[in-house]
Amino acid sequence: MKIKKAERLTQIPPYLFADLDKLKKKTEEKGENLIDLGIGDPDLPTPSPIIEKLSQAAYNPENHRYPSYEGLLSFRQAISQWYKRRFGVKLDPQNEIIALIGSKEGIAHFSLCLINPGDLALVPDPAYPVYKAGVIFAGGRPFTVPLLEEKDFLPCLEDIEEKVARKAKILFLNYPHNPTGAVASKNFFEEVVEFAKKFNIVVCHDAAYSETFFNGHRPLSFLEVKGGKEVGIEFHSFSKTFNMTGWRIGFAVGNEELIKVLSEVKTNIDSGVFQAIQKAGIEALKKEEELNEKIRGIYQKRRDIMIESLREIGWKIRIPKATFYLWIKIPRGFSSMEFTAKLMKRCGVAVTPGIGFGSYGEGYIRISLTVDEKKIKEAVKRIKEDKTIYKEILKCQN
Ligand SMILES: *Cc1c(COP(=O)(O)O)cnc(C)c1O
Repeated sequence: MKIKKAERLTQIPPYLFADLDKLKKKTEEKGENLIDLGIGDPDLPTPSPIIEKLSQAAYNPENHRYPSYEGLLSFRQAISQWYKRRFGVKLDPQNEIIALIGSKEGIAHFSLCLINPGDLALVPDPAYPVYKAGVIFAGGRPFTVPLLEEKDFLPCLEDIEEKVARKAKILFLNYPHNPTGAVASKNFFEEVVEFAKKFNIVVCHDAAYSETFFNGHRPLSFLEVKGGKEVGIEFHSFSKTFNMTGWRIGFAVGNEELIKVLSEVKTNIDSGVFQAIQKAGIEALKKEEELNEKIRGIYQKRRDIMIESLREIGWKIRIPKATFYLWIKIPRGFSSMEFTAKLMKRCGVAVTPGIGFGSYGEGYIRISLTVDEKKIKEAVKRIKEDKTIYKEILKCQN
């Protein structure tokens, strides 16, 4: 039989990293020790109070049955309490909160709630690829909104033509931003609310890195600004915050009608989050401040060591205020893919090429702080010791 895949799949941008993956595998097979700064997945374990809660809850047969679609009320209450403490925003646990099987799941399904075939959605570039994929799967057309360094990686809303804005159903945002580490100001969010109201556009804010910040610069929730809850939905995740990427749990909060339509779609697709994991999630939120203080401390130390080491060898970089990523300009004359391949071959250091996040990511690489301090130092040392690459880097610093 000849299998012909659906057109929606052929519209998804190709997976660019296949060659790099092969190169990585080859390097590892040769027994060379690769330092992988390419992974957006915490290397640290989930804090033990959360694991203990899961183990207890896993033995309780009450938790073995289908969970409720929208999440345990106690889970949603814990979210509401945490949200009030952290952002000063009141949420109704019954109507303004929904549990997700990770925020990626919710974001991917969200387009199905609002997009009709042919509708536009405003998608930032560079960005996490799920926004675009979700729009395409819903039959919509992603419209690229560039995020430029000279604009602090915030979209320039005035540059969006009125006829585009009028046709757009959703504006996707993500601050703190993967891959650039940029954060949004209150001013910017206020502009977004005004723009959204003017053109009747729903704002979908991905806040997966809201708790991964440095020097006490607490990122804002989109719902903190006036009118935010009227026009928006915000996606949160336990993955990066509590080193829980494998657990698959997240949640969405915001406008009651948006939560309701998301619930309508999800009811027809999945059957909720394992209750024992939700119980562990309650524990995590109760102890969020204490647990995160520690996790943040580790990333801050790694970030400072990385920045200091790169500066010592003369590589100028932008210091991120949040996320565990560094977004670094590469020497001219290389594509991000070529430069990444070179770093891997010559230094045994893996990074992520900017092009993987969209065409406006070209000219950059993303480095993750998801390895220990020793490896960070070793990676920078290897770069410095490779004369060819190091010369190129120095050339572009003036
Ligand atoms: C990691 C990541 C997510 C996915 O989080 P899950 O809750 O694990 O699905 C969402 N958005 C961004 C920007 C991310 O980097």
